[in-house]
Amino acid sequence: MDSIDIDWMLAQPGHAAAQQGARISFSDGRIAGTSGIAAPGNGLLAMPALADAHDHGRGLRPLSFGATDLPLELWLPQLGLEPRVDPYLRAAVAFGRMAVSGVAAANHCHNPQNHDRIVEEAEAVSRAARDIGIRVGFAVPVMDRNEVVYGDPGPLISALGKERFDTVEARLKRPPTEVQVARVEEIAAFEHERFHVQYGPFAPHWCKDKTLAAIAQASADTGRRMHMHLLETERQRQWADAAYPGGLVRHLDAIGLLSERLTVAHGVWLRPDEMELLAARDVTVSINTSSNLRLRSGIAPLAQMRAAGLAWAVGLDGMAFDDDEDALRELRLVWHVQQSSSFSPSLDVANLFDAVCRRGWWTVTNRDEGGRIEPDAAADMIVLDYAAMTGDAVTDGLDPLAIVLTRACRRHIDTLIVGGQPIVAGKQLISADLPALEARLREEARAAFAGLPEPDDEFTRLLDALADYYSRSCHCYV
Ligand SMILES: [Zn+2]
Repeated sequence: MDSIDIDWMLAQPGHAAAQQGARISFSDGRIAGTSGIAAPGNGLLAMPALADAHDHGRGLRPLSFGATDLPLELWLPQLGLEPRVDPYLRAAVAFGRMAVSGVAAANHCHNPQNHDRIVEEAEAVSRAARDIGIRVGFAVPVMDRNEVVYGDPGPLISALGKERFDTVEARLKRPPTEVQVARVEEIAAFEHERFHVQYGPFAPHWCKDKTLAAIAQASADTGRRMHMHLLETERQRQWADAAYPGGLVRHLDAIGLLSERLTVAHGVWLRPDEMELLAARDVTVSINTSSNLRLRSGIAPLAQMRAAGLAWAVGLDGMAFDDDEDALRELRLVWHVQQSSSFSPSLDVANLFDAVCRRGWWTVTNRDEGGRIEPDAAADMIVLDYAAMTGDAVTDGLDPLAIVLTRACRRHIDTLIVGGQPIVAGKQLISADLPALEARLREEARAAFAGLPEPDDEFTRLLDALADYYSRSCHCYV
């Protein structure tokens, strides 16, 4: 593809007014230039592509195998119900759905299906990224503590019985830490222009201090990015305060983890002084509004984060509001949820799009080359069916930015261009047959699920015991 002509262009939404009538030309995966032309009348609007700064690339939505929305600590055990499927299919469906939602770059925190075969799984994810054509940051998961509950497991062992606890723990146990960390370089062999490998320490409560310190050092040595969950729920906050009376975030800084190479996901329960420290180290926080609403985690304090100067991006976390990977709706949700009731807006539209399009893209690729339509930037953009959004307009003088912000959804995405190549065209994924991939995934998953034991009384007892454990603040005894 050499160029496209469109009726409207939002080259950097919020920074400059929409341009009517534009030709955008490409060369070597980059934008070669933009020029004003007479509007061609095709009813299309181009803007920078979206980035999903925190996701897990599950082709199966958790609800599809019966995992209903619950507080995170009760929701996580339900992920154990996910049937094992071809890892390529799992990732290809996830990436295909992201593409038709306008996502050109995504951080994929890998949830292994089989802890011993994660290298093979990563190879499959790498192939899926290449075939579908979006840019993927692959965080290699590392977890080596608190697999079952955040704090002392004693009360849970008493509630469940040792044998049952051991069975639950055995399912969550990973290979030795050194093996998990060493896999990062092994998996890096699968890197290509659209597949970037990162360290993925799962969260401070799930990683030993010395593991986080070793990862911090390895990241400094290699320049590889890191991606980690941080303070997603109130219970994680309580655990952190008990485990690190001097401050968890200060501790993370002391061991060298905080740097511009780190993305933290969620940060719902960060305090202002912690936000300032993260900002001083140029860490990025990915806020995940829909996921936090659905898993009862709360609402990220974005106004405080912005006041602290903390860089932010937006993630879907596999838990979009309507369970449909709609990244444009997520953008709108952030816009409304994070607005104040005063006459002076607490969030400006330029900052919103910079976060969603530019900073998110950077956290995936480690390059500040995305998120705007200007010469030399990466040629990653979406083309929206603007005409479909403005059928009721009584004047031609409406502001395209207001229309996009108020109305655009995934169904309006006509084209997704990544590196100058169309991945989605005519509202269909063209790099692969998404409906066929989805049908195959569903078939494989149904067959695998049929072979699994039904969630039984024991499973209900586990959820009850976990609810009791956290309700009695057992996680604060570390
Ligand atoms: Zn997550």
